[in-house]
Amino acid sequence: MLHLLCVPSGGDPSDIFYQKALQHSFEETMLVASSEALVGKARMQGIRGVTFDALANAVAEQCSARLRDRLVVRKISRKAQELILQDILDRLSGEGRLPYFGRLTGKKGFVRSVVSLMEQIGSCGATAEEIETAFAHWDGRSPVYRQKDREVTEIYREYLAYLIRNNIYDMSGLYRVATEELTSLRKAGGALTWKALYFTGFYRFDALQLVIIRLLSQISDVWIALPYEPGRPELYGAAEFTYGDLMRFAISERLPAVPVSERTAALRHIVRNLRSPEMQPVPSDQGIEIWQLPDGTEEMRAVLREIKQQLRGKTLKPSEIAVVVRRMEEYSGIRDLCDEYGIPVQAEDSAALAASPVFRFIATILDTVSLHGREKAESWKEFLTQPLQRIATGLPVETVIQISDGYYYTDHGKFLADILEKTGCEALRQLQQEIDAIPAEATIQEYCDITGRLLSLTKLSEKAGCLYREGRIPLAGFKNIACACREILALLQKLPQDYRFCRSGKQSSDCAGFTEALTEAAGRKTLSLQPENREGIAFLSAVNLENVTFKRVYVLGLRENEFPFYKDENWIYNDRERADLAELGILLPSSADGYGEDIHFFMNACAAATERLVLTFYTDEEHNASPYIAEILSLFTDLKVQVKKAGTAVGDSLSREELELALARAGQTDALERLEPGLAESAGSDRKRLQKAAGWNGNPDDAMLLQQISLQIGDRFSASKLETYRGCPFQFLVTYVWQQKAAEAAGEDLDPGQRGSLLHRVLEQFIGKHLGEKLQEAKHAELQKELDEIFDTACQDFADKGRLYAGDFWQHDKEQQRILLHRWLRAEIAYSGQGEWRPVSTEQVFGGKGSGEVSLDINGRRIYLNGKIDRIDRAGDTYFVTDYKSGDPPKKKDFADTDLQLPLYLLAAETVQNKGKVAGGGYYCLKDGERKESFVFPSAAGTVSWKTFSEAEDVNGTATTIADMKELQAMLQRVVGELLERMEQGDFSPAPSQNCDNFCPAAEICRFRVLARDRVEEEPNG
Ligand code: SF4
Repeated sequence: MLHLLCVPSGGDPSDIFYQKALQHSFEETMLVASSEALVGKARMQGIRGVTFDALANAVAEQCSARLRDRLVVRKISRKAQELILQDILDRLSGEGRLPYFGRLTGKKGFVRSVVSLMEQIGSCGATAEEIETAFAHWDGRSPVYRQKDREVTEIYREYLAYLIRNNIYDMSGLYRVATEELTSLRKAGGALTWKALYFTGFYRFDALQLVIIRLLSQISDVWIALPYEPGRPELYGAAEFTYGDLMRFAISERLPAVPVSERTAALRHIVRNLRSPEMQPVPSDQGIEIWQLPDGTEEMRAVLREIKQQLRGKTLKPSEIAVVVRRMEEYSGIRDLCDEYGIPVQAEDSAALAASPVFRFIATILDTVSLHGREKAESWKEFLTQPLQRIATGLPVETVIQISDGYYYTDHGKFLADILEKTGCEALRQLQQEIDAIPAEATIQEYCDITGRLLSLTKLSEKAGCLYREGRIPLAGFKNIACACREILALLQKLPQDYRFCRSGKQSSDCAGFTEALTEAAGRKTLSLQPENREGIAFLSAVNLENVTFKRVYVLGLRENEFPFYKDENWIYNDRERADLAELGILLPSSADGYGEDIHFFMNACAAATERLVLTFYTDEEHNASPYIAEILSLFTDLKVQVKKAGTAVGDSLSREELELALARAGQTDALERLEPGLAESAGSDRKRLQKAAGWNGNPDDAMLLQQISLQIGDRFSASKLETYRGCPFQFLVTYVWQQKAAEAAGEDLDPGQRGSLLHRVLEQFIGKHLGEKLQEAKHAELQKELDEIFDTACQDFADKGRLYAGDFWQHDKEQQRILLHRWLRAEIAYSGQGEWRPVSTEQVFGGKGSGEVSLDINGRRIYLNGKIDRIDRAGDTYFVTDYKSGDPPKKKDFADTDLQLPLYLLAAETVQNKGKVAGGGYYCLKDGERKESFVFPSAAGTVSWKTFSEAEDVNGTATTIADMKELQAMLQRVVGELLERMEQGDFSPAPSQNCDNFCPAAEICRFRVLARDRVEEEPNG
């Protein structure tokens, strides 16, 4: 017999069902609940509680005697479903049987969509033949869509056949097994152990579940409590279909009356009248409030502040308060905020297993296996700097960073040898041997075994246990490590089972493929980080609020797109197609079902409050208040939205952070300093930077310090060292005195520095083969072939040494560089034909050990210059200096001002060419294939066929001709002399400009980019 009990909003049928169930013996009855929480409640009453899936399993178990003889079923995970379907898609596509889905079959997102569609079709209980018949009767379908339907049927048929062939089942399969068994049992006149079954907490059942319920009701007494009121169709859209289906067979039970919890008048009004056509607005009371906050953080803070006050006043117990949100993942920061206010929380703190430090530790080991060269060295650095390294191997991470920053490693073996030599870390040596033995290719099972062995070898759990006993890590830290190790080992057991049923489970894959699969599986697993605190406030999703009440409920995030939250239905069939299919008897969920579910969740959130309900939201440019806010406002004659401001007065602060913020806002720096020594100082640091206050302006005034700085600067200067000081003294201090280098992220694209080095290398080698030669147009093709060969060899060498990553991006970039070189060659041949200048040297080093010394005497001090001249050409007895630039060269107006390179190289060329006569020099802009910004002394102007200049400009823009090398030297002595003087005086102030070097190693210290942004943002408000 099937009994249907319609439960009005706010009603809780649990007690009725408990009383009924307790009239039977434990074995004779079962309460089937929608959530583990309700299952737990039933068990607390001494009643056997199960979920629907467990019920289906139990049905199969009850029939196990028959099942055992003819079917050994195994349940598969979603991952296994994906793998099976991927195999099917690959095969059908390979046989040319999927012309509609064609190119999509290799995409991961597509496989997931197919899995979800198969589940949806499966839950409506249709066989492949029924689906095919329904599609055949679908009028008005275009030939293209008919092809789609055919392919969906084919995939579904193949999928079901695969499951049957292998004696495995997915969730729908399990339900189908249960229905088959129940049907046979009924036909045979058999009985189940359960005399009565009670279903509670469900607002809908899918088609297969309804069949199971019906079959059960033909054997046992089945009671179902369904939230439903016939007079409020707008509220019960989600339950409508289920109600209609059940009523075809059920007896509608009215008695005993479902108890409705006590509520304030306003809360009772919401529960009884939300979306009721009969609704009349009434005055509100203190039971309902709506708050609008400036942003998400203030929204959480406002709620937690009020909770903290209530707990402080001891008016409520924490367990009488609930904070409700639609989607928990949007509020990951709330636990930290609760900790800040000292509010205990019941919600379990959890995270994806893939994000745990233990998993990252293992994943970074596996990452090293499939890589080579520079990338492999980088991946080893990533592994050796993992936070758990200190526990696992005892390796000092800062030493690893120091060693890796001091040398550009392209060979991981050398990197490890240096680390082992410096640290003598025996545990790392052992681990390295294991890691080196990981095969490049293996089966999933083999890789799982290897990974399990590696994890055991690290003894992370045991070591963390020792550290906890010694009081060096907290209990929570130890538990988190131990729990993550356990979960990873369980995952390594399960993963091969998921793959067992598909082709890729038997084949070998590379380690990168295995790491990806493992990471993906770990991403689906949640790790419980701390034991649940049952004494705290509840932090719940509105999706899990069946049959629960609290005195105070705060519902957060009532804004568009958050609550209500509508998920898109599977795109393979849109809502219009789903409506057509429903007419044909194939009931797939649609977006309309999503709307019905969401209002049901919102009603549950409102009904959970018995004394006070606070609804909160904030708006921004993209999202307004939730439409539910307007619905609640319309229920009352006088309810208003309370707009709350951010910021708390010092006296009202409820957490340390609030107090610090309030003190800073109020300018109470003394109190702030007492609270946390140094806090007031650092809080004001940006202001001091902007005001260039002493100690914050880059101008050290301590004589001893200045002396040390001077010593560190030394007497050797390259052009770029002087230019750095000329551009920004603070960048100079950090780069040349503190010796800090900008961190270069290893990326797929070649950074400008490496690209420049590659092109310089190619041009050096090419020109080196043609010194003194005139390049002839007639030999263009031959020369281009030679240039290409040099270029290809240089690229290979850079890739082998790990100086570039030869991925897809580089293949494209490489051809761009080749085009650039071809352009350069055309220009070079043309220049060669226009005059007598012929290259005589390339990459000429000066000022180094054993190379020509170049000095400059300035105010009684001698400094030495060093550098490398890209190319020197000769015409007769005069020389011309060339510097290649892959980007834009400095402008003519910058000559001997911010551009110190060219004048210094002219000076140096005279020395390295044994006092030969230097006519001038200039830049070769590679991207334009053109010589640009060339300086020549007036006497040599006629010898150069391209555009030149002979002057230098002063700060006012007045140009003065530089007649000869002597005048140029005098000018350099003056310009460089000014720079040296400022250095000696300790002027290392930042000189921010829009052209600040992107890779400036001092950027994080001067904070120019951050402060400049703030100022720009502040300007409109004055
Ligand atoms: S970011 Fe700009 S201002 Fe700051 S140190 Fe670097 S170059 Fe100087």
